[in-house]
Order: sequence, then C-alpha cells, then structure tokens
Amino acid sequence: MNKKDVKKIQHWLHHRCMLSSEWPFSAELLLQSKQKQLVHSEPVLVYKKGIWKCVRCGNDKPSLFYSHFCYHCETTCTYCRHCIQMGKASSCKQFLVWTGDSLQYKRKETTCQWEGELSLYQKKASNQLVVAVEQRNQAHLIWAVCGAGKTEILFPMIEKSIELGFRIGIATPRTDVVKELSPRLKYAFPTVSQASLYGGSRDKNPLAQLVLATTHQLIRYSHAFDVLVIDEVDAFPYTYDASLQYASMRAKKPQATTIFLSATPSVKLRNTSNLIVTKIPRRFHGKPIPLPAFQWIGNWNRHLQKGTLPAKMMRWIQLHTDKPRLIFFPSIQTLKTCSMILNELELDHGSVYSEAPNRHPVIQAFKQKRLSLLLTTTILERGVTVENLQVAVLGAEQPIFDEACLVQIAGRVGRKQEFPDGDILYWHYGITASMLKAKHHIDKMNKEGML
Ligand SMILES: [Zn+2]
Ligand SMILES: [Zn+2]
Repeated sequence: MNKKDVKKIQHWLHHRCMLSSEWPFSAELLLQSKQKQLVHSEPVLVYKKGIWKCVRCGNDKPSLFYSHFCYHCETTCTYCRHCIQMGKASSCKQFLVWTGDSLQYKRKETTCQWEGELSLYQKKASNQLVVAVEQRNQAHLIWAVCGAGKTEILFPMIEKSIELGFRIGIATPRTDVVKELSPRLKYAFPTVSQASLYGGSRDKNPLAQLVLATTHQLIRYSHAFDVLVIDEVDAFPYTYDASLQYASMRAKKPQATTIFLSATPSVKLRNTSNLIVTKIPRRFHGKPIPLPAFQWIGNWNRHLQKGTLPAKMMRWIQLHTDKPRLIFFPSIQTLKTCSMILNELELDHGSVYSEAPNRHPVIQAFKQKRLSLLLTTTILERGVTVENLQVAVLGAEQPIFDEACLVQIAGRVGRKQEFPDGDILYWHYGITASMLKAKHHIDKMNKEGML
C-alpha cells in the first residue's frame, strides 16, 4: 500500500459513510487499510433485543426490514427497505468510515461574483447568517415568503465560510432545485470546488468544499459539514422522515451551524428551543403577495363526472387565454377527468402529476410559453416561477390542500418584478379552516412586510 493508494481511498471515503459493497478498489487494499486503521468498518445492520436497526438511515421499524436468501453470503440475510434506493444495506455488509488524516480546507479570500443587490430585509437576514457561521453551533431559521430571494441571502454566508476554511452543505428536497441552483452557485463562486448530488447523478468530486445535494444524499455523509443548509425544511420528505433528520445530524460536524429555510415552517419547528428565527415578510421586488380569492363553485366533482366543467371554471379558462394559467387538482383522477373534458372541447393544455411520463418537457413548454394552460397536482406547489402566471385551485376544500400547501400555491403568483400581480383563486364547495389560515398567513406576512 503506497501513498497514492492512501490518497485515492481518502478521496473516495473522507467524510462519507459507504457500504463495503460499494468499495471500488481491491479486496486486498480494503484489508490493508483496515490494518493501518485508515478505514473503520462496522455492521450496517445491528440486531438488539429482537429488533433490527439500520445504522445508515436510523430505521428500526420491523415492517421496513426484509429477510431473504442472499446470493452474496449464501444464507438468510436481512436488509433495510427504507434506504434501499441508496444501495442495499444488508446484514452481511459493512459500513465503511474513513479514520485516517482529516483534510482541511484552506482559508482563502473569495469574492462572490453575483452582482445583484439585496433588499433591506434580505440584507438583514444575510448579515445574521454571517454572524451565525462565525459563532458556530447555531441553529437558524430563515422564514421567508415565497419569492423573497432566499438563494441570494446565502451568498455572503458562503463567502464568509470559505474565508474561514469551512465546508458547506446545502440540502434541498427536490432534484429540480439542485439542477437549477448548481449553475447559479458555480457562477457566483467560480474558484470554489463544488459538487451537485441527486439520485442518478455521478458525483465526480466527493471532496468538494461546497456540496449541493438532495436531502436523501445526506445519508452518505459523516461529520462533513461546518455549515449545513436545509432548504424547504417543511417539505416532504424531511418533516415526515425521521431518518433524514438522523442523516443530517450525522452529516454535520458537532460544532456546525445549521440553517433552515422555509416559507411555511411548522409550529413545531418555529418553537424549537435555541432556534434563532429571522423573518423576511417581503418579496425581493417589494410588492405584496396577491391575496387568494375564495370562489364558491358548487359540487364540482359531480360536474366532472357528468363530463362538464363548472361554469365559473370554464369562464376563467377562456378569459385569460393570453396568459399562462395553472390549475391545481386534489387528485390525479380529477385531473385526468378534467383533461378528458378539455380534450373533447379541443382546448389545448398540458398535464403534470407524479407518474406523468413526460412531465419535465411539459413543464419546460409551459415555462417557455409554448403551452398556456397547465393542469397539475400539488407536485408543482413549489419551485415553479413563470412570468405573469394566473393560478386557480379546484376543490380547495379538500384535505390535501392544507395551510402550507395553499400558501405555497399562492406564492407562485406575482414573482416577477414586471408582473407582481395575478389571479389566485380557491374554487371551493365549502370554506375550510385551512383556506382561512392560508389567507390569514399571507395577509399577516404582507402587513409585516409593509412596516
Ligand atoms: Zn436503512
Ligand atoms: Zn447477505
């Protein structure tokens, strides 16, 4: 085992936790690196008092383990179904962690190349993040309205972190965001090594100082980050998935600063002890978020079943033909029914839902104005920015449309400086508490933003 071998293993494993089955070098090299205490290995599944636990993702629910005959170890073997998409963690495998020399990033001056200007609110939040990074060991929530420009808020904090030789991780629940953010960060910090990780991406630079990843990819990291940013902390899957909290705890260093970003943080998060909360109640362009209008639309489901659309809905669709219109549906089934009716009427439109095979090209066509009417499930509640967008929600009284979801949907409207207004209609068959809360939430933020 020579120096070159040590370097390549360090490059592959440093600050990460990988399965023995993922080891890309020779078996002999693995043995030698264990003997030299460069690599520590431990079982990835442990069995205690009749209960399995997966060390990688923290899962200990019996229903999420499965035993079968394993061709690898030629006996009955158990694996964790919960983190299976990251590669099979089974009882015959080991967990590998680098225990050799720890790499330090050089402190260096870096200048952010982004030339835009922060609004006053953005600047205030941004300054606080710089302080949080300097002081270490802080947890900070940036509660920013949809369209506040939260990415730019991070730039001065990233600059400071690089200056201090810190490693930064930014985790976001959606692959689309990683793809969209990655070029912006590369443009802003051209001299900083960066990696973008999502399911199916090839991480060419595991040692990058600035790591942008989907929340799931955090599972691969161990004591890696001095600063960990968790974007859209309220969004699926982070809130519902204890294992991701387990993974993000492991991914950061003990003294790390954690930064949460959200437009709709849960009460539980807001009330976390020692959490510093900074609000940005104003969009970057300074205009308020359009308030949702409630419109009673009767028994819309019966209409759909009879093959017709409620008159108000029909009128709205035909009124705004020159503008991009987005309609949210409570289920794939209702969306498909409506799509069939529109087809019969020969009204051009696209559909987006989780299983739609061509959803990415459809979204692209909508963004590029080649398509002006789009039907969607809640899958598009976040992340879409389209100029002059008009939005309606069909069946806003349905339970799937909770407060956070309705606030996010309203947040799609008026995001561009040139078009700060637009329709946001909640078509309903009875007003719900969630609808009222959503409207109140937006109104309150708007009022705070005016102060
Ligand atoms: Zn697992
Ligand atoms: Zn096995």
